[in-house]
Amino acid sequence: MADHTDLLVIGAGPYAYSAAAYARARGIATRIVGRPMAFWRDQMPADMYLRSGPDWHLDAQGEDTFAAFFEDRGLDPADHDPIPIDVFLDHTDWFAERKGLPVEQRMVEELTRPNGEFVARMADGDTITAARVLAAPGIAHYAALPAWADGVPAALRSHTSELVRFEDLAGARVVIVGGRQSAYEWAALLCDHGAERVDVVHRHDTPSFAKVSWAFVDDYVEQTLATRGWWRHLPAEDQSAIASRFWQVGRLTLEYWLVPRLDPTVVHRHPRCEVVSVDAGSGDAVRLTLSDGESLDADHVVFASGYRADLSRVPYLSGVLDRISVTDGFPALSPAFETSLSGLYVVGFSATRDFGPFYGFTKGCPSAARIAVEEMLR
Ligand SMILES: Cc1cc2nc3c(=O)[nH]c(=O)nc-3n(C[C@H](O)[C@H](O)[C@H](O)COP(=O)(O)OP(=O)(O)OC[C@H]3O[C@@H](n4cnc5c(N)ncnc54)[C@H](O)[C@@H]3O)c2cc1C
Repeated sequence: MADHTDLLVIGAGPYAYSAAAYARARGIATRIVGRPMAFWRDQMPADMYLRSGPDWHLDAQGEDTFAAFFEDRGLDPADHDPIPIDVFLDHTDWFAERKGLPVEQRMVEELTRPNGEFVARMADGDTITAARVLAAPGIAHYAALPAWADGVPAALRSHTSELVRFEDLAGARVVIVGGRQSAYEWAALLCDHGAERVDVVHRHDTPSFAKVSWAFVDDYVEQTLATRGWWRHLPAEDQSAIASRFWQVGRLTLEYWLVPRLDPTVVHRHPRCEVVSVDAGSGDAVRLTLSDGESLDADHVVFASGYRADLSRVPYLSGVLDRISVTDGFPALSPAFETSLSGLYVVGFSATRDFGPFYGFTKGCPSAARIAVEEMLR
């Protein structure tokens, strides 16, 4: 039996929560499917801290904000700086409850649009039909690895999105490839969990560690709301100046609170270095040779090599992919997040090419929800 809805929101992460809550508030019959906050619960370490603060929230109506959650719970943000991931997750549960979000814990197997209406075939065998679909696939399908990663036996390597428990690596020698926040946070977590030695290898200089402010992003999001298609109409040099500021704050500067956790007797940094060869030996450990000639023996290799958009890797979109125009892995989006397949909207990291880098973070949730939903009502 096929259930019908006006709007089907696929994904149950921050972008999906924002959009579904706002669509319901604006009177659109909406269903939301996915595993609630699964990426945060299953693909981030339970003892991780957020980089963003309590000012980034999910509510396009500006009522049930993260700050309102702190107030409601009688919590002082100063006691939760940086914000532990479990506080953030409590806040998303609270948000879903406040908004009466009926998140259906089921997954879409395949989306098609045979006759002008979307058909979502669910993993449990049901079908949901919808006039419109908003997909919020996040980054889980976009993990990027260097070309040589396959040289490391599968059992001895993980992308950071796969390694979120560290107990098994107590006493181990670990090499982390990459040098941004995830690389150094995973190094700190490995120290916390008793790794014997952690080598962090990256091509760039050692990043700086300092308290940063993301407040500069507020203005860009305001401009996105005020001017349709703001980012895409900026001159290329303005886009790259903003992107490099974002890069400076987010990628070249890492969180100051990592420093005391990076035990210098355990963590060894290899800036301006790359791995030039891999010797898998007997299969229990691997030897990596670096461009400076040093060799590192590792029981495990962690790839903190980030994410690269590739819409073709989102499994449930395979049935409509040939009708979506894609550039460099990103869907080409209208100024209202609509793909070239009319009625299909995509938000989150996949939208950063057309909307700017901030739309890969929760900061973009309320405005993306507002822009997409208002377009649906036009
Ligand atoms: C280590 C790390 C730290 C980060 N720290 C921060 C931070 O401090 N602040 C910040 O703003 N951002 C942070 N981010 C970025 C963060 O990933 C995004 O802000 C956020 O997750 C984007 O939300 P989303 O809704 O786009 O995707 P996600 O949170 O990834 O949600 C995707 C959802 O899709 C669902 N789904 C997948 N497949 C299906 C299917 N077939 N059917 C139905 N549902 C499906 C999943 O169940 C999941 O719930 C961090 C990222 C990483 C990797």
